[in-house]
Amino acid sequence: MLMEQEKHRMMEPLFDYDVMGGQPALVGNGLTGMDILSVDQFDKAKIDYIFARAREMREMVEIVGAADLVKGNVLACIFYEPSTRTSSSFIAAMERLGGSVIPITGGVQFSSVSKGETLQDTMRTLEQYADVIVLRHPQIGAAIAAAEAATVPVINAGDGAGEHPTQALLDLFTIQEELGTLDGLTVSMVGDLRFGRTVHSLSKLLSMYNVKLNLVSPEILRLPLTTMNQVRDAGIDVRETHDVADIIADTDVLYVTRVQKERFSDLSEYEQVKNQYEITTELMTHAKEKMVIMHPLPRVGEIHYDVDRDPRAAYFRQVRNGMYIRMALLAGVLGRA
Ligand code: ASP
Repeated sequence: MLMEQEKHRMMEPLFDYDVMGGQPALVGNGLTGMDILSVDQFDKAKIDYIFARAREMREMVEIVGAADLVKGNVLACIFYEPSTRTSSSFIAAMERLGGSVIPITGGVQFSSVSKGETLQDTMRTLEQYADVIVLRHPQIGAAIAAAEAATVPVINAGDGAGEHPTQALLDLFTIQEELGTLDGLTVSMVGDLRFGRTVHSLSKLLSMYNVKLNLVSPEILRLPLTTMNQVRDAGIDVRETHDVADIIADTDVLYVTRVQKERFSDLSEYEQVKNQYEITTELMTHAKEKMVIMHPLPRVGEIHYDVDRDPRAAYFRQVRNGMYIRMALLAGVLGRA
């Protein structure tokens, strides 16, 4: 439930284009000081709040490009796994809000991690300089351990095959903005549902809405049982299949994913399931006129390049939404939105 103060905030515009910066911290936003570790932390009211703020961020960026909402605040961005979009969008988000960034994203081999420093000590060090830490790590649960060690908020930017909550929020926001609703939709998730952390987080978020889920994967890449149970317990109608042709005609959101090669201990298993799904212009002739194709990216062949010209291809718009959502989250966690 929204507190009175929060309801009030949802109505008020965040930016006064003449007077930016210097606002008092907003403690009533429900996000101030919060670690963002899993989508389980969010309810519909918080999601609506974040989306409202993200729309304001979009408007602000379109009108003036940047603000000084979090001026003086510092973000430490540490990535123990490769990233293009998540790292750059967090950096862009912080800079467009007027804050600054310590980027440890070019490879932790250049940090003391390569000397054997523990995650806990790295967190306790970064918090001496930064007001918020964004962490990507190959181990499930690493973000929770980091949040326990740090006194500043920690944002999970992907913990191995676990979760990717900020991606799921931007995915959900993209669906809302593209299709105008989150209810009454059939969402089809295709590819690596087992190791795909974006799929785990998004399927749980979608379970809060009135959706039908189609899960399309090879047998060995089916959605993990814990996530499946959570989705089913929420009363979601789930259908599993191996074939995209079974679901394409009634799909509103086609969420395509990459097979996560780096998660396979046996590469021969990867060889068996890679390149199993390819979204082509021919396949898209069987899809609804009003629907969207999404992908958390990077793609490695799952969506043909000529599909990019299809107006239903929303994956680069999805990328841009990531910056607005992360601006909303950073400003929220820092008590400024
Ligand atoms: N970029 C997404 C992630 O970090 C998806 C992927 O890597 O395939 O989980």
